[in-house]
Amino acid sequence: MPVRDEAARIAGEIAELRHAIHREPEIGLDLPKTQQKVLAALDGLPLEISTGNGLSSVTAVLRGGRPGPVVLLRGDMDALAVTEETGLPYASVIPGVMHACGHDLHTAMLAGAARLLSARKAEIPGAVIFMFQPGEEGYAGARHMIAEGVLDAAGERPVAAYGLHVTSNRHPCGTFSTRPGPMLAAADQITVTVRGRGGHASTPHRAADPIAAACEMVTALQTLVTRKFDVFDPVVITVGSFHAGTTDNVIPDEARFWATARSFSRASRGALAELVPRLIGDIASAYGLTAVADYAAGYPVTVNDADEAAFATETIAAAFGPGRGETAEFPIPGAEDFSFILEQVPGAFVLLGACPPGTDPEAAPTNHSAVAVFDDAALADGTALYAELALRRLARG
Ligand SMILES: [Zn+2]
Ligand SMILES: [Zn+2]
Repeated sequence: MPVRDEAARIAGEIAELRHAIHREPEIGLDLPKTQQKVLAALDGLPLEISTGNGLSSVTAVLRGGRPGPVVLLRGDMDALAVTEETGLPYASVIPGVMHACGHDLHTAMLAGAARLLSARKAEIPGAVIFMFQPGEEGYAGARHMIAEGVLDAAGERPVAAYGLHVTSNRHPCGTFSTRPGPMLAAADQITVTVRGRGGHASTPHRAADPIAAACEMVTALQTLVTRKFDVFDPVVITVGSFHAGTTDNVIPDEARFWATARSFSRASRGALAELVPRLIGDIASAYGLTAVADYAAGYPVTVNDADEAAFATETIAAAFGPGRGETAEFPIPGAEDFSFILEQVPGAFVLLGACPPGTDPEAAPTNHSAVAVFDDAALADGTALYAELALRRLARG
């Protein structure tokens, strides 16, 4: 039976697991309930299972009956600090926490793939590492799992690694999207503190106003984007938080703001880290103030290996027929900590449309929205793709 049909046959159970995880979402690196559900779903399968020390990860290794290389499949498991408003029958029962990025689907699909591949254990040439990862949403869970040895779980390094991510909008349900090269952005955080000298708002010349200087910094950052970066290797800087002062007639001592900086190449990322603090410092000194700009590296650029992205595209076409996969024209300015895996192992990150069939993908709410809906209809295909990527890649040797 084709893998796709086998996945469809167990779709009900995958959906059940997904709903159970969705109902009890957990945030960050410590997801004990989710971990228990995964361990229960894998129970009885011929897998070598280990759990994390510093985080509630699950690593499962399937050793095939024939010799061959190692392939890694990754599914993230964590939720977000969002209050769910979907009204779904399996909606979150935890106030203020929601699987608004669809990681519940990834977890359930990866467990489904572990089941399908376990049934083919004897014929598999090599080994598969199933990486169930906490803390994707800002906690760098992938980096923690690498530090705890996930890449060596099967005794030798994987030749390829694949990650799947569902989307609640943009892509029609059941369609896949990937691309060679940069797939998602690097995301860094800039924290700026401008120190002036407070005083009476009526006599600003006797004070040193940090607000006026900080405002100039905010606009100058946008000019930096257009004047210092190649339009074909773009960057995004957005100031998302700006705080200063208490009332209208007092000049405060200090102004603070936070910004996110997105980039798609190592060169641009390096330039941001160098140019932003310099610009902030120079503007501050032009006004006779001081400023500290802390540039903190977040997730790196998620870079798909060109061969592995082509292989994923071929696999989608072979397993699902024509019209189900697209090569994305542009990368996405969001970020992913699967990037840490792809820094060490060639691989591909693939998106899977999961908005409810019949809805307009362009109008549907985005991932992270309190009303984002990811449909069960995508589960069987995601499960099948995980399994197909492993089977076909191992067969290639
Ligand atoms: Zn997310
Ligand atoms: Zn996500």
